[in-house]
Amino acid sequence: MWRRLKYSGIIIVILIISFLSSCSPPNMVTKKGLYLGTFLTFSIDSSHSYVYSKVSKILNDIDKKFSRFNKESFIYKINNKKGEWVKVDKEFIDVLKFSIHMNEISYGAFNPILGEVESVWRFYDGNYKVPSEEELKELRNGTNIKNIMIDEERERVKIIDGELDFGGLVKGYALDLIKNLLEKEKVKRCVVNLGGNILVFGDKKEGFKIGIRHPRESGIIAKIRIFSGTVSTSGDYENYFIKDGVRYHHIIDPNTLKPARSGVIEVTVISEDGMLGDALSTTLFVLGIEKGEEFLKRTYPRVKAIIIDEGLNKHFINGAMDLTVP
Ligand code: ADP
Ligand code: MG
Repeated sequence: MWRRLKYSGIIIVILIISFLSSCSPPNMVTKKGLYLGTFLTFSIDSSHSYVYSKVSKILNDIDKKFSRFNKESFIYKINNKKGEWVKVDKEFIDVLKFSIHMNEISYGAFNPILGEVESVWRFYDGNYKVPSEEELKELRNGTNIKNIMIDEERERVKIIDGELDFGGLVKGYALDLIKNLLEKEKVKRCVVNLGGNILVFGDKKEGFKIGIRHPRESGIIAKIRIFSGTVSTSGDYENYFIKDGVRYHHIIDPNTLKPARSGVIEVTVISEDGMLGDALSTTLFVLGIEKGEEFLKRTYPRVKAIIIDEGLNKHFINGAMDLTVP
């Protein structure tokens, strides 16, 4: 889901840009926009500023295919024609297959068919509501991954029940497409922040310093330095409400159909591949510290992650500690 604009990205934007200007040549141009229901900040070396219009097109095209709220999108059509085949394209099938793969390897923690559940909590428009146990029980069958049927030969998809929702990976996917474009255009240096999912690209000498947002206060809780790739964050502060002293946030545990209570409040994943990093940040949030660490070490030993628990302790996985800077 990505209708509701999220403001969390802004802090990261401000931090990044200020770091950037202190360690890079001044000839960068920054553009801002609204895409996929979130904020984009795009900084690029000035000789390539024309690339922004191409980036804008990429993001609008993704919205047209993958947004739950865009009536033209494949997702919208599939969700609104349950039991009927909907013609899609290879790109869509590839992303869908990846999301199913993530579901399979994560013991179900990542689930791309939670759309109906997200809807009853109303995280998409901010009219938050705590659904009854009965309501959630009725949605249970719709969250079964087996509801998704793929006919690869004829490039068609149908779902039997539930609703697809790619909110857990689409921003990361967008970064991958942008990265391909930057390579093609031989861009010298670029930083993209799409709603808290960050891509850094360019000359490898200086690297890029990125502040990781403090999950409970303004400011940052850690700083890392990377030379290329993506940084994806999932947090319980991004889209949440508090009712009767309980915090309800938008990352759903597919077991309970309620906001995940795994003891984790923020996950940052550092990965070359944006879609993978985005999906993993959501997955690790649901799995929690022990299961999450075991899972990441076993499945993606090259992907680094920093998990912040309720006590604000930092857990560094796969050598993420080495990326931190004072
Ligand atoms: P954000 O979108 O705030 O950057 P995430 O990357 O963690 O944060 O994605 C959260 C979004 O993913 C939710 O808004 C929802 O659309 C979707 N989502 C929520 N729970 C899950 C889950 N268990 N598996 C896959 N997607 C999920
Ligand atoms: Mg994610």
